[in-house]
Amino acid sequence: MQLSGQRWPAAASLSGQYPADGCITADRSDSMPATIIDGKAVAASIRRDAAVRAARFEEEHGRAPGLAVVIVGDNPASRVYVNSKKKACAECGVYSEEHALSADTAEDKLLNLVRRLNSDPNIDGILVQLPLPDHISEDKVIEAITPAKDVDGFHPINVGNLVVGKPALRPCTPAGIMELIHRTGVELKGKHAVVVGRSNIVGKPVALMLLAEHATVTICHSRTADLPSVCRTADVLVAAVGRPEMIKGDWVKPGAVVIDVGVNRIAEKKLVGDVDFDGASAVAAAITPVPGGVGPMTIAMLMQNCVEAAFAAQR
Ligand code: NDP
Repeated sequence: MQLSGQRWPAAASLSGQYPADGCITADRSDSMPATIIDGKAVAASIRRDAAVRAARFEEEHGRAPGLAVVIVGDNPASRVYVNSKKKACAECGVYSEEHALSADTAEDKLLNLVRRLNSDPNIDGILVQLPLPDHISEDKVIEAITPAKDVDGFHPINVGNLVVGKPALRPCTPAGIMELIHRTGVELKGKHAVVVGRSNIVGKPVALMLLAEHATVTICHSRTADLPSVCRTADVLVAAVGRPEMIKGDWVKPGAVVIDVGVNRIAEKKLVGDVDFDGASAVAAAITPVPGGVGPMTIAMLMQNCVEAAFAAQR
């Protein structure tokens, strides 16, 4: 297919930039010209780096960086996430401990556990798996975590630091999205980035991160008028909506970088993103697949946050 408009450096120069990771693969066929951004490979390289840093921390401080994972109740999805996080810790040389509480745990008991972990010298990161049962205030629990150990980056102090551009622990999924964008080689300065979705965990923080890198940012949501037209102006399009394949190929500007955060189960074994992959990959310069795009990045960035929180606590 003949493309019009600007195309950013794709496979050749990218693989030159990141030769060891094999993080970007390209398909130059006429029907799918976009470079496929391989989130699994990028995540693996970030985990390897985290493992190296964790080993250095242990050498310097006589203990591994430590993550406490708190799970309340028996939500099966939460259990899967917690197990994946523990497995990643084991692979990266990060000490992890799990605190599993029953679904009827009183809010105070959970808050006391968080306070105890705040002052535990072997614990550098605290992650309370969300969602919590209805009788527990998620805000209260997040605010009880000391910001320096808030490896999810959800504490209002960390959010505020992101807003004002100060160093802070960054939320994992948005940080992973930025990493993928960087690895396409796109220069964000002056580009138009459109973020569809304004949640506190994805849409808003990624918009702030894009802004910090001098993109001109538009945030869209369920009340945005004429969403397709806004998307068509995006040099970088981030979809974080939670609606299967809502963003069609003809909403994508030729040559755009498309990051699909959505994870939607449409059949027993079939996951799709928020973007119509076939349609969008025919016009985009680079695109993340689902699965295998943004998904693997979240835990990789969590590992990075744990290790960096450990180093920061020693400074
Ligand atoms: P939320 O449900 O919190 O937010 C969805 C956002 O999409 C809202 O801002 C909502 O607008 C907007 N929206 C909903 N419908 C439309 C529409 N028709 N047009 C435009 N905007 C719309 O979702 P999350 O941000 O938590 O997650 C988004 C997706 O990303 C989900 O599929 C989730 O599973 C996935 N996800 C993936 C992660 C990963 O690791 N890969 C991590 C986190 C999320 P409004 O505010 O007006 O309601």
